Amino acid sequence: MTAALRLDLSVQHHSLYDLSHENTMALACVADCVVTLTDEAQLDAFMASDIADREQSRPLFVLSGGSNVLLPAQLNAIVLRPQLRGIMITNQTQDYVDLEVMAGENWHDLVVYTVNQGWYGLENLALIPGLTGAAPIQNIGAYGVQLEDCLQYVRAYHLPSKTWHHLLAADCEFGYRDSIFKRTPNTWLITRVGFRLHTDPAKILASYGDVQTVAQDYAKQQGRLQPAPADVMHAIIDIRQQKLPDPKQLPNCGSFFQNPIISQDQFIALQATYPNIVGYPMPELMVKVAAGWLIEQAGLKGGGIEPIVTHQQQALVLTNHTPYQATQDDVEQAQSYIVACIYKKFSITLSREPVWVNANGTIGHGKHVV
Ligand SMILES: Cc1cc2nc3c(=O)[nH]c(=O)nc-3n(C[C@H](O)[C@H](O)[C@H](O)COP(=O)(O)OP(=O)(O)OC[C@H]3O[C@@H](n4cnc5c(N)ncnc54)[C@H](O)[C@@H]3O)c2cc1C
Repeated sequence: MTAALRLDLSVQHHSLYDLSHENTMALACVADCVVTLTDEAQLDAFMASDIADREQSRPLFVLSGGSNVLLPAQLNAIVLRPQLRGIMITNQTQDYVDLEVMAGENWHDLVVYTVNQGWYGLENLALIPGLTGAAPIQNIGAYGVQLEDCLQYVRAYHLPSKTWHHLLAADCEFGYRDSIFKRTPNTWLITRVGFRLHTDPAKILASYGDVQTVAQDYAKQQGRLQPAPADVMHAIIDIRQQKLPDPKQLPNCGSFFQNPIISQDQFIALQATYPNIVGYPMPELMVKVAAGWLIEQAGLKGGGIEPIVTHQQQALVLTNHTPYQATQDDVEQAQSYIVACIYKKFSITLSREPVWVNANGTIGHGKHVV
């Protein structure tokens, strides 16, 4: 580990920084170089500094809310922490409002703020942990809505060339839980996200799964015939609170496995043995299978390898029973066990959703590639 680093002005450095409380899985992690950024000029200043020059062989790793990462016990990267704040209206008409939101704004607070202002589009993405700058990385999605539905652009710093870029939504190459940022890790630092939100409440999506019934109940309580965006948001908050463990009480990083996409033929074959298998048709004769259902059917609800076990109410979520002590290795053991059990039973390989961070700060797969 290198000696203590220092950069004056407002860029802070901590000689040994404990990140165990900075990731929602509560994995034990320390880093020796953490740079907190509260405005864009600090990033320019840091990248032009002696420290950045001297440490240029070290990867730069961006850490926001830590809700989608699996951190190593010792992180030897330069850890950049975007904490820029601010929400600006850049354009407003009768039909829509354009917002520019700084990367360090808490995502859920932003959703609540916009709905309360009468600006709609983000309500289905309520209660997703993390910061706004991280939301484009995996094109966050929930209850039939993805970030790309409202995102107009991002302002991002290209770390290798030390240049600023304005990327339109199409440049971000969004996909299901995917984007250009996810595919080129350690490359971009997003500082601003531009949204277009609409003012017409009729445009909300309230028909997804159990949202409709709960939103309708909220609407009734308010004396409304149809759910308003606030009703949808409150319904989603309720449903999520019932289904998902709060990371503050039971550390986790949300859905641990992606829903696997298999061929229709394989799905039909599985249906013969498991008539209740849950699948959603996809383009090109593929079917998306509910990973949570597979885990439950394999008898792994509450299972895994201590201290990392699946949640009793939501098998897709892996929880950490020894916060701030368990390490990436513990996660890997539990994950390998679950992946092996599912493969043995269904011949389906589960893939991990959260980002695996190597000790040097590059993004990896762990020993067992999934
Ligand atoms: C209980 C729970 C529920 C969840 N539910 C959902 C859900 O419904 N839908 C969903 O999509 N996700 C969900 N997630 C996952 C997670 O909340 C999101 O992926 C979120 O956007 C991560 O934000 P973060 O600030 O915590 O990012 P971090 O975990 O800090 O970072 C995630 C990745 O993004 C990169 N990154 C972070 N900030 C920036 C930036 N400013 N510029 C460039 N790169 C950056 C990091 O390097 C890392 O690779 C859930 C997580 C939890 C714990």
